[in-house]
Amino acid sequence: MAKDIEKQIERLREEIRGHDYLYYVLNQPKISDRQYDKLFAELRKLEEANPQFITGDSPTQRVSERPLEGFTNVRHAVPMLSMDNTYNADELRAFDERVTKQLGSKEYDYVVELKIDGVAISLLYEDGILVTAATRGDGEVGDDVTANVRTIKAVPLTLLGRDTIPAVLEVRGEVYMPTSAFIELNKLRAEAGEPAFANPRNAAAGSLKLLDSRITAARNLSFFAYATGEISEPLADNHYRTLQRFQRLGLPVNPDIQRAKDINEVIDICFSWSEKRLKLGYLIDGMVIKINRFEQREILGATGRAPRWCISYKFAAEQAETIVESIDVQVGKSGILTPVANLTPVQLSGTTVKRASLHNFDELNRLGVRCGDTVVIEKAGEIIPQVVEVKKELRPAGTKPFKAPQKCPNCGSAVAKDEDGVYIRCLNPGCLGQLKERLKYFAGRGQMDIEHLGTALIEQLTETGMVKNFADLYKLQKSELAGLERMAEKSAGNVIDAIEASKTRPLWRFITALGIRHIGGQSAQILAEHFGSLDALMNAREEELGSIDQIGPTMAESVYEYFRNPANRTVIDQLLAAGLRPQQPKARLRQKGKLAGKTIVVTGTLENFTRQQIEQAIRQAGAKASSSVSKKTDFVLAGENPGSKLDKARELGIEVIDEKQFLQLIE
Ligand SMILES: [Zn+2]
Repeated sequence: MAKDIEKQIERLREEIRGHDYLYYVLNQPKISDRQYDKLFAELRKLEEANPQFITGDSPTQRVSERPLEGFTNVRHAVPMLSMDNTYNADELRAFDERVTKQLGSKEYDYVVELKIDGVAISLLYEDGILVTAATRGDGEVGDDVTANVRTIKAVPLTLLGRDTIPAVLEVRGEVYMPTSAFIELNKLRAEAGEPAFANPRNAAAGSLKLLDSRITAARNLSFFAYATGEISEPLADNHYRTLQRFQRLGLPVNPDIQRAKDINEVIDICFSWSEKRLKLGYLIDGMVIKINRFEQREILGATGRAPRWCISYKFAAEQAETIVESIDVQVGKSGILTPVANLTPVQLSGTTVKRASLHNFDELNRLGVRCGDTVVIEKAGEIIPQVVEVKKELRPAGTKPFKAPQKCPNCGSAVAKDEDGVYIRCLNPGCLGQLKERLKYFAGRGQMDIEHLGTALIEQLTETGMVKNFADLYKLQKSELAGLERMAEKSAGNVIDAIEASKTRPLWRFITALGIRHIGGQSAQILAEHFGSLDALMNAREEELGSIDQIGPTMAESVYEYFRNPANRTVIDQLLAAGLRPQQPKARLRQKGKLAGKTIVVTGTLENFTRQQIEQAIRQAGAKASSSVSKKTDFVLAGENPGSKLDKARELGIEVIDEKQFLQLIE
């Protein structure tokens, strides 16, 4: 009997690993996420009932529940060397000439890879089982980040046994954060009042150095393998075949790796990616060119710090120069004052840039930006324009440093700097600027989704004093609205209908809409699922809040305090009295919607959904969210900066819809 259970557990693990392989290595999932979750739940249940069979390599054991005290050192058996850089075709040709000279012939070929902007990592497998993961560190000694790397689903805990596996196999590769995960993470951090990560590489590095691997697990990191380190017997006699072996072992390899027969082909490939890279779902900062055959690598050897058989080709960061015409200070919904530079419009990586956030006043001072300055702007992660440099030599005479405001630019009240933080806030709870932002957020599509309640109307409603809090929205009469400037009777009716329709939004949307400090959409979903009702959440003790997975002590305190504030309670009582019924939807899927049974692939950044939210919305519509476009895809939902999936959809003639059409389909 016990034998049978053990067998069943092992069979489930094999099945899950097989699906991980199809998903992460081949990018061809054969089952839906829901079916996958079901297998996973089945395994977890069996293991919980039979804990004697739990092993560290089980897919259920990726995330450790115990935070680390610190990181220990790992000495690399084979040093992790760095690479020399080139910046143009001439430098690449010079590299090739050195190779020809040293090898004494032109009989060699290259492998050209994307240089992913992440964190280099070394994975040590013993008898096919992941035992250690370490950062590069100084090349000789790195940090042991095994607990965190184990949470990355693209990293196999056990290699697949289709080939004979060397007893010792050190795999090197790059841990990276996909662009969509990076944008989502920074959004959450902004909501929580934490400083944003400058780029996906910093975000990935920061995520690997967290002591609590449960947080790392939520960061959506991914991985590509690209080399071997220490190895008991070689996998192949050249690099390209080694990468093919990697794939058969279940290690994800970047699909855009190409072979090149000579340096001219190398240069063509490198140049072709300077444009194409903008469509990838992750950032690359260049290309890596490697000699393919290992025996030739031996001959070429290494200088002190870099091998002579490989070189990187770096793309020039796309930058533009423009002038700061003025600096605005904006008030956010929690009172944070943000300086924003208004720029002379300029083209950068395909869009016109007119404004750039300066983030906070510490950052503004660090850069030393003044009105009238010529500045260099860059797109952080090719996404968000930011000022990277001030051309001080071009500064016009008579400019003055920009001073952080002593008063709120909107209401004139006192401001104060966060303790242990970089933000300056307006302290006035009645600040009209904050109220406007809170209402805009409340009505936004990711929250209460009140159509027709736009910025202009919110300005009118707040400035006339008709709306002083969320509850006032639900007291508005059609006749009052129709009395406003530029408001026809019909549009007034539309606004009232839209407000009415928002009364039944799901609980998590309502919690998000309140704009509780540190609580964004993702944490609101966790709270809604945990408590099931608004009442239970409002009455929760602080300890209970703090004990919920992924709700940290700061969040717990913030939620607790929010519901202890009498003013907030009054508004919520009024909202409930006005007929709001925020419900926690049943997990049961809707079977009849227009999207029921359809397969949808999402690409690019969406305005109103995080990746998690859109996947949930797709599932709730009875459809399936898939990660790759194939003939079986029914729709591709394309947002901002869609990747190569959009091209693929067009190629296959698959219907492409935008976010608005999607929202209409799920109505
Ligand atoms: Zn203010």
